[in-house]
Amino acid sequence: MSNIKVRFAPSPTGYMHIGNTRTAVFNYLLAKKLGGKFMLRIDDTDTIRSKKEYEDALRDILQWLGISWNEEARQSARMARYDEIVAKLKAQGRVYACYETAEELEIMRKRLMNKGLPPIYDRQALNLSSADIARYEEQGRKPHYRFKLEPGIIEWDDMVRGHCRYDAANLADPVIIREDGSYLYHLPSVIDDADFGITHIIRGEDHVTNTASQVQMFAALGAPQPIFAHLPLLTGREGKLSKRLGSLGVRELRAEGIEAMAICSFLAKLGTSEAIEPFYDMDTLAQTLDLNKLGRSQPKFDEEELKNFNTHYVRSMPYEKTFGRTGVDKEFFDAVKGNLTVLSDIEEWKTICHQKVKPIIEDKALTDLAASLLPQEPWTGETFNEWLSQVKSQSGKKGKELFHPLRKALTAAENGPELKTLLPLIGRTKAYARLLGQEA
Ligand code: GLU
Repeated sequence: MSNIKVRFAPSPTGYMHIGNTRTAVFNYLLAKKLGGKFMLRIDDTDTIRSKKEYEDALRDILQWLGISWNEEARQSARMARYDEIVAKLKAQGRVYACYETAEELEIMRKRLMNKGLPPIYDRQALNLSSADIARYEEQGRKPHYRFKLEPGIIEWDDMVRGHCRYDAANLADPVIIREDGSYLYHLPSVIDDADFGITHIIRGEDHVTNTASQVQMFAALGAPQPIFAHLPLLTGREGKLSKRLGSLGVRELRAEGIEAMAICSFLAKLGTSEAIEPFYDMDTLAQTLDLNKLGRSQPKFDEEELKNFNTHYVRSMPYEKTFGRTGVDKEFFDAVKGNLTVLSDIEEWKTICHQKVKPIIEDKALTDLAASLLPQEPWTGETFNEWLSQVKSQSGKKGKELFHPLRKALTAAENGPELKTLLPLIGRTKAYARLLGQEA
């Protein structure tokens, strides 16, 4: 059995959007492809912004997307473990207390920037005497804590970005615990990844600099360094990722009738060298996953493109993949699917074929004639053509003048599947009455 394990680690501070959905999809597909495990980790160290409502919603969306997890963890339940590790790291001098206020740090940052220098914390806190500390404590200042980076080159082979190399001298010691004692994301994430045996970390490229310092955290814990893959971030049509797009909710897309597997297919291939095409299950999609095919540039995400793709997805959908959601048989589905934009549009065709419709009579002479020529059942594959050629020759009408009035009488709609396919679904009784202008 493979020891591969990935995790999706959302912070429950908002609803699932297209960006974090993409991260979840890639993680899940990698686990599937390599026969590994997928863990759901709730990153709820921010107790003020984390909400149960968001967590429930994200679980619901993951399930809807077809993403299931083998294991789960919650950061807020692991504080004692983080405290234990921090105590060790403090004893080793890898975690140190700092007493600067936010304002002081901001002044230092500006001073460095004005000199054209990178805003790297100068580690003044390491020089504090116990008298300095006592004075700060007396003033009521509370310490925040930083992780001390060791000098040297930090390297990893990224599955998307290739070889990555950072000089620790160019990085600031990350703050890991705030003044109020709460944990920032960096260290708990590494402790979890180490404790749960995470082998691959796939996340957005906005985490690349975090990775550089986290590589040293893994080493400080004596844990193996996982394999990293940083996905280029999505951008909007206009070039920059707009606020709206960044937060484009998957719940909204779902409510608009976008199919879960259409979203997964789309996101898995967006920004790769492969064409975006419909996949109707995660297993098949997972077999095609190849992170090497992901480009380095930021792919454009266009909501309209996704919607158009969804229509293509629905129109190409094999009946078995509807899993009974349509409530129709295969013959019916295949007859109308070419006219669906979203799957639920099938309801309209169910109404037209099985419920009452008020016909629209445009050319009474023609539709009366058509009714009188309508053959008795049973109908064969040839019935429609035979009927139509009789209506045609006896009325002298052809093309649009022939079809349009018949369609409007039979379906009360302007467009739709071919009449030849629809007529048997409507059946003789309804067709006959509708051609005569009766609601049926
Ligand atoms: N909770 C973090 C986030 O949502 C997780 C980042 C990670 O995958 O390490 O950005």
